[in-house]
Amino acid sequence: MARPPAFSLGPIPVRIEWSGLLLSALLAGVLFMRADASGESTTSAVLLAVAGGLSFLASILFHELGHAFEARHRDLPVDGVRLFLLGGVTQMGRQATRPRDEFAVAAAGPFISLLIAAVLGTFVTVVDNTGLSVLDSAAGIVGILAWLNISLALFNLIPGSPLDGGRMLRAGLWKLTGDRERAVRGAALSGMLVALALAAFAFTRFDTAGGPFEASWFLFLAWFMGSAAASEHRHSRAWSRLGARTVDGLTPPPAVAIDAAHTVAHSLSWIAADVDDEQPMMTTQPGTRGVVLVQTLREVPVPDRDRRLVGELATPITDLAEVAPEAPVTDLVTLLRDRTLATQTTPAGVEVWTLRRLQDALDAERPERRRRLRRARP
Ligand SMILES: [Zn+2]
Repeated sequence: MARPPAFSLGPIPVRIEWSGLLLSALLAGVLFMRADASGESTTSAVLLAVAGGLSFLASILFHELGHAFEARHRDLPVDGVRLFLLGGVTQMGRQATRPRDEFAVAAAGPFISLLIAAVLGTFVTVVDNTGLSVLDSAAGIVGILAWLNISLALFNLIPGSPLDGGRMLRAGLWKLTGDRERAVRGAALSGMLVALALAAFAFTRFDTAGGPFEASWFLFLAWFMGSAAASEHRHSRAWSRLGARTVDGLTPPPAVAIDAAHTVAHSLSWIAADVDDEQPMMTTQPGTRGVVLVQTLREVPVPDRDRRLVGELATPITDLAEVAPEAPVTDLVTLLRDRTLATQTTPAGVEVWTLRRLQDALDAERPERRRRLRRARP
């Protein structure tokens, strides 16, 4: 299938999913029926409907760019903006570290939507006053767009995650309690309640004029919001549990020893093909010890493998970030998100962590805990 449209607006990558174009087409369909019914010629009805559908998509894009540029203004990295069936989403590279940044980034989207509505509303008022009938049908569509932008802002301001209002509520709770994770869970809980209310509202719409279509739309939205809120709640609980544990309670998987004086070709000859790319290898020569990932060895081009030595590719462990034994596990996760490797000094020596190995170590604990629980049961 063809790839959906993607482009960059300044520093912000934008991706429009096919379902985002479907959203635009659905609105164009509604606008066409409306223009057609009001006695517009087919050509102008089609033109107005297409222009209206695309302008709505552009409105959602501007809303998301509001979030994206406010985030960049506050030195928060933005991965990109994505438009899809239910609207848009701005993907952030990192979470805000201050409640006020979180609040401002969330509020910027609805603010832009209201600003667009104000501009469009002014246009309609001016056209109404000139009495130029040529502009009437265009003004009709612009008026609808103004209302759609107001709805977009108001809906997003409902205080429940993952809506903008939920992010604003989260920032407020964070400021009040000083505990970000409790604030995340509070706003997520509120989001689940909003989703329930939306689902209940959907059921009241089944026997109205818009009927099953409108009801299914709201049900889908409720399901999407509810599952996003529930997932935020779950993640936050897991994160808080990790934050309550310290690094020295973890069992690092053993590193594999490798001779720094050997060539890459020789070393790869005894590393089994199914060994994970992220397996760290500890160089064994005396003096500065180093770490090299299996991936780094595998990335050396085949013709160079007989010349390159493992020691040239290894990073001295003194150059790696070290995590303190008494640090919360969440510190280790944050460290590993920014870099590939981190070290931990244990009674047995220096251990090396990668994000993948940390995940494996945490996963490995689970069946053990389950077994212990089963044994404890009478
Ligand atoms: Zn938004």
